[in-house]
Amino acid sequence: MNGLMMDRPLLISSLLTHAEQQHAEREIVSRRVEGDVHRYTYGDMGRRARQLANALAARGIAQGQRVATLAWNGYRHMELYYAVSGSGAVLHTINPRLHADQVAWIADHAEDQILFFDLTFLPLVEAIASRVSTIKAFVAMTDRAHMPATTTLAGLLCYEDLLAAQTDRFDWPDLDERSASSLCYTSGTTGNPKGVLYSHRSTLLHAYAAALPDALNYSSHDAVLPVVPMFHVNAWGIPYIAAMVGAKLVFPGPWLDGQSLYELFEAEGVTVSAGVPTVWQGLLTHVQSHGLRFGSMRRTIIGGSACPPAMIEAFQQHDVQVIHAWGMTETSPLGSVSRLTPRQAALDAPQRQALQAKQGRAVFGVEMKIVDAAGQRLPHDGRTPGELMVRGPWIASGYFRGEGAGPLVDGWFPTGDVATIDADGFMQITDRSKDVIKSGGEWIGSIDLENIAMAHPAVAMAACIGVRHPKWDERPLLVVAKKPGRALSRDELLAFFEGRVAKWWTPDDVVFVDQIPLGGTGKMQKNLLRDAYRDHLLTPA
Ligand code: AMP
Repeated sequence: MNGLMMDRPLLISSLLTHAEQQHAEREIVSRRVEGDVHRYTYGDMGRRARQLANALAARGIAQGQRVATLAWNGYRHMELYYAVSGSGAVLHTINPRLHADQVAWIADHAEDQILFFDLTFLPLVEAIASRVSTIKAFVAMTDRAHMPATTTLAGLLCYEDLLAAQTDRFDWPDLDERSASSLCYTSGTTGNPKGVLYSHRSTLLHAYAAALPDALNYSSHDAVLPVVPMFHVNAWGIPYIAAMVGAKLVFPGPWLDGQSLYELFEAEGVTVSAGVPTVWQGLLTHVQSHGLRFGSMRRTIIGGSACPPAMIEAFQQHDVQVIHAWGMTETSPLGSVSRLTPRQAALDAPQRQALQAKQGRAVFGVEMKIVDAAGQRLPHDGRTPGELMVRGPWIASGYFRGEGAGPLVDGWFPTGDVATIDADGFMQITDRSKDVIKSGGEWIGSIDLENIAMAHPAVAMAACIGVRHPKWDERPLLVVAKKPGRALSRDELLAFFEGRVAKWWTPDDVVFVDQIPLGGTGKMQKNLLRDAYRDHLLTPA
């Protein structure tokens, strides 16, 4: 027997309608590419999103077609989020930090029809324009006064002109909630990028779950500044969640250095932010070296790669709580959050910190298990590592235009992460499966070793990789970038591991570099380091 409840679809447009009715006055503040700060409200945003929806319809964009963006975090990008998905088309956010060849490949694979871009990316768009076969129009996300001179992009359109030509009357269509809403390609280090295609339903369920107090805890009293880009897994859902709860939004545009972020935090009363660890390194360095304090910041969500305990502690010293979360492009992204239970909150500080450094417990809606190479479930004893498998209504079931059987194994998504899970459900990532170091048949967790190195006061960033060894197959090598002006020798750093880790886990050597290579989403590119140093221990010094 069916229940007698309405079957209203879960739609992205309903978030905007809600925000316009319930939080119309709440502000959205953006640092613009043009250099100034722009501010308006959810009410203004709704009106402009409807004008944009009319503009898309006028250009023949149909439901299901892909509309691409190459853009920073800003209010025009937010309008695209709602106008494109709300009208039934698919918002394809492309990562502008990728190489032009990859951007062209992705746009072609997605069969994008129209491309909206921030002025910063004009050279990139010019470089790919003749190579993308399906894109019929390019739109510069600016006003007439700032339109760039270009000979390559014939008929370049102006965003503000497109809007000005339209009314703000538009009825959002009643879509099937399972229809596609947005598309994001994963930054795979091998093979071609893969498209993850979100639906209206998956996006709304993810937003509900992520907003909960024991998940990421967003409220109407917050001012949220997403450092995580809107081209990386929908800025971890913040554009949707903020509209749902009525949080003030503060967009940093292209200015992501420590000083610019700090100034914006203070000027706009930001209470919560979100981003990958490498971004916070810059901010912490700025705050510490200038003896500054955070006036309004209360917490920050850190994910995308393991958050070193030293970073959690540094933020704590500034009265900022770190919420360590785990996820992937394929998981929308929220999978787990490291939040202490009431029992754990009463533990002493070192125990609490050790738990916070883990990736945490699955949020409601996500199921997790770890398995061995034969796919058998492994115990949740906090010690036995296995491949992490997940399933739930906002986890990918396949890739866009994917070939072959698809990624699922018995209905579970294999994450490629190696993890332990303890009796309380706390999951800890020990490695990416391709980053695992296997020494004499035993696994060494590269993340543990990186966290120890990062706790040394002279270390700015550390990557641990497995390199070839004549006896043990592989041994850990530490690649380290020092903090500016700090002295540190190989032996000093290796001595720092004593007593902190089993002796056979201690790295065999240290290589000092100026910079660790970072990928398009700010993660360390360990594959490049492995290529460079694979034979390091075999080569006589
Ligand atoms: P992406 O799809 O580019 O967001 O990358 C997802 C991958 O980032 C995951 O499979 C993990 O390997 C890694 N990752 C994300 N969050 C964390 C975290 N908190 N700790 C360790 N690794 C993480």
